Amino acid sequence: MIELKQITKQYPGQAMPAVEQLSLSIPEGEICVLVGPSGCGKSTILRMINRMIEPTSGSVTIKGENVSKTDSDQLRMGIGYVIQQIGLLPHRTIAENIAIVPRLYKWPKEKIAKRVDELIVMMGLDLEKTRGKYPSQLSGGQMQRVGVARAMAVDPPIMLMDEPFGAVDPIARTHLQDELLRLQKEIKKTIVFVTHDINEAIKMGDNIAIFDAGKLVQFGTPEEILTNP
Ligand code: ADP
Ligand code: ADP
Repeated sequence: MIELKQITKQYPGQAMPAVEQLSLSIPEGEICVLVGPSGCGKSTILRMINRMIEPTSGSVTIKGENVSKTDSDQLRMGIGYVIQQIGLLPHRTIAENIAIVPRLYKWPKEKIAKRVDELIVMMGLDLEKTRGKYPSQLSGGQMQRVGVARAMAVDPPIMLMDEPFGAVDPIARTHLQDELLRLQKEIKKTIVFVTHDINEAIKMGDNIAIFDAGKLVQFGTPEEILTNP
């Protein structure tokens, strides 16, 4: 589904490429976890998939289409993006925050309201207690759930998740991981999930790609990684 071919990304003024000669196939409907220490190029890879940056060489294709030749708006419509600092708008309610992208796409009001409610419930949040609140009234874990709901609002087939649960406490984090795994059984998105935590990678991944200093050093299922460390 997502195909990275011989990707190298060299940022100007950096001694080493952030990503070097990377080839990676990410199958449809699976969670592929990119794991490795800080600075090994994980976020750079995500940013090349949704074309926030261009590779120096090599190509990224999604369903056979080269993303460099795709209209960026069109591309991003199909890609949800969740980061650690989700940046909910503080003066907008949770419902309004989740509705941002559907509004951009000019969905009718009723359709938006229905979808927002569905997403709040889907993310395991209490509908009545959450919808009208402001971000500052929620816990870190609840905010992160809203961040995931917002990214899923227009039902993109692909989700890029960059340390999505990195900023929440360990208990909330476990709940969020379980919730995403439960949800994934139903929604079957193609998810690229970035973490520096190997335990999280093993729990979440159908496949795991281990990186070190911009290079892919191991790829396999959690079982393969565990039996061949
Ligand atoms: P990770 O997500 O694994 O922490 P990044 O992809 O953020 O790694 O960074 C990989 C390398 O590229 C690091 O050395 C980082 O400093 C560098 N880097 C990331 N973004 C930029 C940028 N915009 N300009 C220059 N160097 C960058
Ligand atoms: P992450 O590991 O999630 O990418 P960082 O803190 O490394 O987070 O990067 C945050 C932002 O700073 C990103 O936009 C990245 O492109 C930029 N950045 C990271 N490293 C560098 C660098 N060496 N020079 C310039 N910008 C950088």
